Amino acid sequence: METHICTKCKIEKTIDKFHKHVRLKNGYRKICKKCRSHPRPPIIIDNHKICPKCKKKKHISEYYNDNYAGTGISVRCKECVKTHVKNYNKNHPEVRKNWQEVNKEKVILQRKEYYKKNRKKLLDRNKTYIRDKEKKRIGDKKYRENNKETLRPKRTAYHSNKRKTDLNYKIKCNLRTRIYHALHAKKENRKKYYSTVNY
Ligand SMILES: [Zn+2]
Ligand SMILES: [Zn+2]
Repeated sequence: METHICTKCKIEKTIDKFHKHVRLKNGYRKICKKCRSHPRPPIIIDNHKICPKCKKKKHISEYYNDNYAGTGISVRCKECVKTHVKNYNKNHPEVRKNWQEVNKEKVILQRKEYYKKNRKKLLDRNKTYIRDKEKKRIGDKKYRENNKETLRPKRTAYHSNKRKTDLNYKIKCNLRTRIYHALHAKKENRKKYYSTVNY
């Protein structure tokens, strides 16, 4: 009878001491029946499991639910899965794009569904956001009005400094001034300004 060396116990045994496995090359497992029958240590102890990626012991709530896994939770912890997905998406931007392209209708439907379910929450959040923004805007305006005199030199200094250091800003300012003059200049002077903005 044919024999194999078990990769676990390193003992040479006849082929009937190995389980059959159709997907493997020679049709048998590499580890013998006896080694395989050794009870494996439980994966989840005291509601905690070690993540094979980050090697940290984490509570099961830090793993995703996975009905396909024997344990009922994902192999890697949430954090590691997230990092993995993030890296994958970064390295394969076309996959995500293609998926969205192919599942366009599904994505739209999902968004609609999400909106329907969370309509009130979303609206409330939106309202609060607008209210806060408005509050801040009014506050800022009031503050600027009350401190006009102290703020002006600061603003002037900021702009003059930015003009010196930021070339783009300088060009933008110059253009803005020229456009302003082109639109507001007296008729006889207009031509001069128009030429600069290419009208
Ligand atoms: Zn063995
Ligand atoms: Zn992990």
